[in-house]
Amino acid sequence: MKTVHVIGAGFAGLTVSLRLAQKGFQVELHESSDRVGGLLGTDQTPYGIAERAANALIRTEKAEGLFAELGITPSYPLETSKKRFLFRDSPKTWPLNFVETLGMVGRVLPRLLIGGKKAMRPQAGETLLDWGVRKIGKAPTRFILGPAMQGIYGNEITHLSASLILGPIFSGAKRSKYKGLLTGPGGMQDLVDHLQSRLLELGVKIHLNSQVTLQSLQGPVVVATSARAASHLLAPRLPEFSKVLSTIQMSSLMSVTLFFNRAQEKYKGFGCLIPRGFKLKSLGVLMNSYIFKDRDKTYNETWVLGGQQEEALMDLSDAEILKLLAEERFRILGQKDTLLEYRINRWKKALPFYDLNLENALADLAEVPEPQGVYLHGNYLSGIGLSKILERSDLIAEKIASAHG
Ligand SMILES: Cc1cc2nc3c(=O)[nH]c(=O)nc-3n(C[C@H](O)[C@H](O)[C@H](O)COP(=O)(O)OP(=O)(O)OC[C@H]3O[C@@H](n4cnc5c(N)ncnc54)[C@H](O)[C@@H]3O)c2cc1C
Repeated sequence: MKTVHVIGAGFAGLTVSLRLAQKGFQVELHESSDRVGGLLGTDQTPYGIAERAANALIRTEKAEGLFAELGITPSYPLETSKKRFLFRDSPKTWPLNFVETLGMVGRVLPRLLIGGKKAMRPQAGETLLDWGVRKIGKAPTRFILGPAMQGIYGNEITHLSASLILGPIFSGAKRSKYKGLLTGPGGMQDLVDHLQSRLLELGVKIHLNSQVTLQSLQGPVVVATSARAASHLLAPRLPEFSKVLSTIQMSSLMSVTLFFNRAQEKYKGFGCLIPRGFKLKSLGVLMNSYIFKDRDKTYNETWVLGGQQEEALMDLSDAEILKLLAEERFRILGQKDTLLEYRINRWKKALPFYDLNLENALADLAEVPEPQGVYLHGNYLSGIGLSKILERSDLIAEKIASAHG
């Protein structure tokens, strides 16, 4: 049986290990921390659960397949979560006025009718802001595109790469219909636990607190860490690759789950996204109790803050963060409630910044000859979301099976 080493046991490392073990490889999974899951995890509190980072996966066929094969009964979002709010002086389901809406339709519709989706394609080296102003207009960019993309990529559209983020959507390739989200009944930790158990059943050896180096390993290796950690790991053996990876900027994000004594009932929905320009630090709020059912004892929300321009937020104390959020919550939702419990997760330099630097780095990586036997994996390569990572796990396992099987 051939051995494959996987470095990093986040969602990328866990799922690629699963696929490799299913193909008959002996997998050795090396994780530098004392637990598997990476950014994924769920904390239990007396008032309900608090997700540390991701709260769900996009419900693709592959994601549903993964849940089914692991024996997890998925939790799907509630009807209430279909409503989504965007902030413009107050939370609104549609933040544009009549004239702005007409302007957007006037810009987008003729393009789509004449050129199809390809007419909306971004250019190389274009920021999301520039693309938005060019293709959909200023107000839709500021009040819809901006907050939506910040909510996913944790950074402002002034720097985000349009071709990395929108390129696949407007490539002309057929895309499956968006069917919503799914998670485990007990949150994302359910998924992590089931993945870990299945790996152990399949004979995968999981080495926690591992300080492995690339030079010490024989045979194919999947490097499934952050871009920053991959750059360090590759430096001695593949300096050219390491140099390109070192140009990828990492940004910080914070998720704060707040449990209250009573539910806010004015805005019932998935949550509210917050554009820049209102002197608000929050990027958005998830109204957890209106998204998934039977998970909470009391109403709770998760607030997300951070990004490259807001690194200083990571150094605030818990008390300072709670004070800031109490003020912003009052401005955004008009609510002042008694806080029963909170969980703060500061993810310092944990997420790749999907900016023009990353666009250039990925173009440079494509130019460097592929290293023999080393396979890169993670959220900086083909998408930040878990469903995209899962797709890449399948591809990498196929590639390794055909090269080394
Ligand atoms: C607040 C927040 C909310 C999010 N919400 C969503 C969401 O709702 N849906 C969604 O799809 N995505 C979401 N994401 C993104 C998603 O969670 C991440 O992109 C994904 O979990 C990254 O997985 P990964 O395995 O690539 O990286 P990581 O989870 O970072 O895992 C990398 C692993 O490698 C280990 N490691 C690092 N260096 C070494 C080394 N030298 N040796 C061994 N191990 C090493 C680390 O300890 C870690 O365990 C969110 C992210 C954040 C921060």
